[in-house]
Amino acid sequence: MSDCVFCRILAGELPSKMVYRDDRVAAFNDIHPKAPTHVLVIPTRHVTRLSETKEDDREELGYLLERARHVAELLGVSRAFRLEVNNGEEAGQLVPHLHIHILSESQPKN
Ligand code: 5GP
Ligand code: ZN
Repeated sequence: MSDCVFCRILAGELPSKMVYRDDRVAAFNDIHPKAPTHVLVIPTRHVTRLSETKEDDREELGYLLERARHVAELLGVSRAFRLEVNNGEEAGQLVPHLHIHILSESQPKN
């Protein structure tokens, strides 16, 4: 059993409100939302942080960002949202599994 919170969510060992999932990317509601819409988009592969990725990961990273766009569309917040990636504890990264925050002042649809 992984001790990574997000890997445990992916494995179904911890509950989450999943809003999108495929074989490479998952997106679920943040447990402590800091905006009316606050969703985390993660690669299903465990990668600690952005600075641990390499040039070879370009396609995976591009897909992650493109899916963040798609999730914003699914949530109906495409008009105005922002993305945040915290890299490293000192920058406020609390969960050591790469994730993109999607934040919007609009309520998600559904
Ligand atoms: P970070 O500070 O690492 O960029 O963001 C981690 C985010 O993960 C925080 O916004 C925090 O609220 C969220 N989080 C931490 N533990 C859990 C959890 O068990 N479930 C969910 N859905 N979100 C979590
Ligand atoms: Zn993980």
